[in-house]
Amino acid sequence: MRTTCASHILHNFTSPYNATVIDRLEKAGYVHPGMTNMDEFAMGSSTENSFYQVTRNPWDTGRVPGGSSGGSTAAVAADECIAALGSDTGGSIRQPAALCGVVGLKPTYGRVSRYGLIAFASSLDQIGPITKDVTDCAILLKAISGHDPKDSTSVGLPVPDYTKVLGRDIKGLRLGIPREYFISGIDPSVESCVKEAVRALEGLGARTVEISLPHTEYAIAAYYIIATAEASSNLARYDGVKYGYRTKDADDLIGMYMKTRDEGFGPEVKRRIMLGTYVLSAGYYDAYYRKAQQVRTLIKGDFERAFQEVDAIVTPTSPTPAFRVGERTADPLQMYLSDIFTISVNLAGIPGLSIPCGFTGDGLPVGLQILGRDFDEERILQIAYAYEQATEWRKRRPEIGVRS
Ligand code: GLN
Repeated sequence: MRTTCASHILHNFTSPYNATVIDRLEKAGYVHPGMTNMDEFAMGSSTENSFYQVTRNPWDTGRVPGGSSGGSTAAVAADECIAALGSDTGGSIRQPAALCGVVGLKPTYGRVSRYGLIAFASSLDQIGPITKDVTDCAILLKAISGHDPKDSTSVGLPVPDYTKVLGRDIKGLRLGIPREYFISGIDPSVESCVKEAVRALEGLGARTVEISLPHTEYAIAAYYIIATAEASSNLARYDGVKYGYRTKDADDLIGMYMKTRDEGFGPEVKRRIMLGTYVLSAGYYDAYYRKAQQVRTLIKGDFERAFQEVDAIVTPTSPTPAFRVGERTADPLQMYLSDIFTISVNLAGIPGLSIPCGFTGDGLPVGLQILGRDFDEERILQIAYAYEQATEWRKRRPEIGVRS
């Protein structure tokens, strides 16, 4: 199948083999209908960075579906398919799932094989399901999980039947509410939906505790060093020689490399490659890359400490509902801030799920994020299912059209 990663540099590329997740799904009876749109090389939070087209949010076509897996989430929300896969390096399954009103899960790093996934930032990337409800999420996760000899980062732990925990009550479970996730700048309707969801979970017998994840404020800075560093290395392979696009006119080899990459990559991808090359360069490596890795360890430590006290953590998925097409394209930092609640999870490697938890006054979906311990997707799914069954949000479907 043609595999472009929404980039011009791969516009003519046909993959010679299947990703392991596709092989596993096909073995389970799945028929692959095709690929969906995304931000180029999964870099973005709105799907506006695609070389091809802008994907729109089915709840309001004047707005973005989120990103980078915005094509997958929009297709599921619009009933164009039953389920889809996405990849999540800093939030690209959970944030668009929240903005499109569907369920999205980023499994623990190592849970799902990434063989055949085009690499963005290899220490963060993970494939996960995007579905209409928690049951489908559990079924899909089981189908794609498990060790794969072709991906040395996939882990050999047994794969539970994730559907078994659905329906188990959540009485007495301890849920952490991190104070750093209710910050100024969060949309008031997002905050009130999430707080309402927390009350609903309490109503189901869960005990909530305020916790602190003190290094949260450094997550975006650390992420945009580590992710860009890894991306600059992973994207070095697109040089016009081995595969993909090659410039039509170049005088010599170096010129061919440079023109191919100039014509083949979009502006956001170039920005990341330049940032990543800079933070890895001699003289800056210690100041940026090494420091970011140290911060990453502190962030992981925050979660480890929290999980000694609580069984799961509950937060908003995104600080705002779907924003308007074009609203954040002029300001990359504004776009990067869309992932403020999802990025720490990738840095720590833990699993996280987004589930619909209400609507804004404008009828835009809001997502609740549930985080668990390493390889404890079962706990997350148990809580998500209990919440889903106690509420009616999953029954709403978008009337496709412009709303505002
Ligand atoms: N929006 C984030 C970024 O642009 C996360 C992307 C992702 O998870 N693939 O890097």
